[in-house]
Amino acid sequence: MAITQPVATIPVPAQSTYQTRVADYWNAEQNPVNLELGKIDDLYHHHYGVGEAEWSVFDETDPAKRQERVTAELHRLEQAQAELLASHLGKLSATDRVFDAGCGRGGGSVVAHLRYGCHADGVTLSAKQADFANEQARARGIDGKVRYHHRNMLDTGFESGAYAASWNNESTMYVELDLLFAEHARLLRRGGRYVVITGCYNDTYGRASREVSLINAHYICDIHPRSAYFSAMAKNRLVPVHVEDLTQATIPYWEMRKEAEHLVTGIEETFLGAYKNGSFQYLMIVADRI
Ligand code: SAH
Repeated sequence: MAITQPVATIPVPAQSTYQTRVADYWNAEQNPVNLELGKIDDLYHHHYGVGEAEWSVFDETDPAKRQERVTAELHRLEQAQAELLASHLGKLSATDRVFDAGCGRGGGSVVAHLRYGCHADGVTLSAKQADFANEQARARGIDGKVRYHHRNMLDTGFESGAYAASWNNESTMYVELDLLFAEHARLLRRGGRYVVITGCYNDTYGRASREVSLINAHYICDIHPRSAYFSAMAKNRLVPVHVEDLTQATIPYWEMRKEAEHLVTGIEETFLGAYKNGSFQYLMIVADRI
């Protein structure tokens, strides 16, 4: 199926100054926690992880091997998150098309393609990430079906109703939810599936806590309250069918990452504090496009 190209005179991605700063961040980003984990099997994820951690990796006495085992364990937890998300995309076939909004270095689209054989379009504000991900797809020999684009997920220019499923894995805190969900609703066919995994602040806590504000400053983002997801979905033809609080499931990942001296970025304690004081939640919402 051909993807409609945007009008040539409009620069793509059309983006705000803020979005240019976000793009600068991701164009420059070289954190070992993002690169070393991906190198293991060429599945590059820039999200967090879920599930019980295997703490025995720290028992390894050889320091180099211990680092390797910790890296592999964190990657396993990140991969588990990507698989969890992919498992909720609905019944997909090899002719279906999926949209990966805010795709990073591309791991999520590869996971969906390997699971369903589907076509995937990932978009990121970072030209560097899109190039990297396309190179990975070429090396894997799946570039005929998995493509990455340097575009704005709020204005993709892709064809309306052409997608059977779409998702955001850790990328909704960079955008206005009404604009984002309007674009997903436009791209998804009727009955299509949308999945989001995100950190959100907990409305029952009140407003954004100190920790949530520190996370915003660290990543240049704006974490939404949990309630904002449901009201923006309701306004945009997205009807939740499954909601899962992943907060407890993600804590082991952060506990382990905090101890991984070769991978820490300095934000680990803040995430743990935010989850533990009840101000922050890790959430998955699965919705049908009606
Ligand atoms: N979903 C990926 C990456 C998450 S990191 C993963 O799970 O690995 C956040 C990503 O959101 C970055 O790639 C960043 O470029 C992207 N992003 C943020 N705002 C965006 C926008 N308006 N349009 C497209 N991508 C955006």
